[in-house]
Amino acid sequence: MPCLFCEIVAGRIPAKRVHEDETLLAFHDINPQGPTHLLLIPKRHITSLADLTPDDDPVVGQLVRKATDLAEVLGIQESGFRLVFNCGPDAGYSVFHVHLHLLGGRALGWPPG
Ligand code: AMP
Ligand code: ZN
Repeated sequence: MPCLFCEIVAGRIPAKRVHEDETLLAFHDINPQGPTHLLLIPKRHITSLADLTPDDDPVVGQLVRKATDLAEVLGIQESGFRLVFNCGPDAGYSVFHVHLHLLGGRALGWPPG
């Protein structure tokens, strides 16, 4: 099976894109858990956080920085937002291409479920 998020990067599966550059793609989650729910992914396939190497440090930094930029653009920087990387079954990791969730636009419960 081809990787779903690699297929989105390639444009073979549609997504509501909000940002794209050489390294990253950001798009709306298909099943939003709040008024704002974006996913930010490296264009290069990385299967899981557990597979990150020191070579990936720049792309991880870019994911976080772009997510905070988008939070500002979307007007949720002051109200607050949450960035989430899931990893493994206990976290419900379900698409095996590293992705950063940007959630906001409502009060988010803590601890998460
Ligand atoms: P995770 O549980 O961290 O693996 O999150 C995977 C996320 O991908 C979930 O929030 C899904 O709603 C989202 N998702 C699955 N398929 C698509 C798709 N085709 N387009 C956008 N988001 C998707
Ligand atoms: Zn992939």
